[in-house]
Amino acid sequence: MSDNPPIEFAFPDLGRWEKGDAPYIHVRDSGKPGPTVMVAALTHGNEVSGAIVVDDLLASGLKPRQGTLIFSFNNIEAYQRFDARNPFKSRMVDEDFNRTWGRLDRPATTLETRRAQVVKPYVERADLLLDLHSMHDDCVPLMLCGPLDRGVALARKLGAPADIVRDRGHAAGMRMRDYGAFGDPKSDRTALLIETGQHWRASSVVVAKDVTARFLAETGIVEPSDLPADWKQPAPAQQRVVQVTHAVATKHGNFNPARAFEGQEVIAKAGTLLGHDDGEPVTTPYDDCVLIMPAVNRPLRAGVTVVRLGRLI
Ligand SMILES: [Zn+2]
Repeated sequence: MSDNPPIEFAFPDLGRWEKGDAPYIHVRDSGKPGPTVMVAALTHGNEVSGAIVVDDLLASGLKPRQGTLIFSFNNIEAYQRFDARNPFKSRMVDEDFNRTWGRLDRPATTLETRRAQVVKPYVERADLLLDLHSMHDDCVPLMLCGPLDRGVALARKLGAPADIVRDRGHAAGMRMRDYGAFGDPKSDRTALLIETGQHWRASSVVVAKDVTARFLAETGIVEPSDLPADWKQPAPAQQRVVQVTHAVATKHGNFNPARAFEGQEVIAKAGTLLGHDDGEPVTTPYDDCVLIMPAVNRPLRAGVTVVRLGRLI
C-alpha cells in the first residue's frame, strides 16, 4: 500500500501547447493599450491544479480585451516525468525552479536554470503575475503576497482565499514572484503566489479556478463574463493577513512534533512547545502565533523548513 495521497483528477495532456511564442509559453496581445498580465503554472512540476487552469484558458481561446495576456507552463519537463508511484519526485528535475531567480545572470547549469532563462523575458514584461502552486501537505489555501504593501492590497482586492501571508521569500534562493520589479518597493508591478491546497485534491482545482478568475477580472484585461461561469466561488466572510516572522528549520531532520498540527492554526500562548529538534525544545515566540504550512507530520531532510511562524496583522 502506498502512503501517497490519492490523486483525485486526471492530468491534462499539455503536448498541444508546446508550440508557442516560446516552448509552452503563449502570448495573446489585444493590440490595445493595457497591462501585461501573466498566469504561470507548473513552477513545480507536480503542482497540477494550475496546469488544469491554464490548459482550460488556452483551450477556451480566451483573449484580452486590452493589454496582453501571457500563459506559461514553467517546469514542463518535471511535469512530464510524473510517476504516480513516486509523485513527489516530479516537483523538479535538477533543482527547484523557484529558487533560481537570484542567479539567472550566470551560465545555466541545470534544466531549471535553462528553463528559467527562457521564461525570464516574459516575467520581465508582466505588470501583474499570478503564479499557481499547490501544497505537499493537506493545508488550507494561502495567498503568498511577498513583503510589500501592494502585494497585500492586490490579495485583498481579489477577496479570496481567506488567508494572506506576507513574507520575505526563501533564504535558499529567490522565487519568481520576488524577481526584478516585483521585489522593488518603487515599482508598481505586482506578483502573487497562490497555494491552492494539497497537490492532487479536487478542491485545489476549484481554488485555482476561483483565484485565477478573480485575478484576471481584477486586472481588467478580461470581463468576468469572458471566464467560465462556474469558476468563481463565494468569497470568504473575511480575509486575514499574517506576517511571517520566523522560519523553523530542522538541523539534521530529527524534528519530533509535540502533536499533529494544522495549517494556519493559531497558538494562543507564547512558549507553547511545538516539538523537539535534535532533542532541543522549539516553542512559539509570542502569543497568538500562526503556524504556516507545517511540515511536521512527516519525515524531513536536514535543513528543511519545518514550519513558518507569523503574527496576525
Ligand atoms: Zn510550489
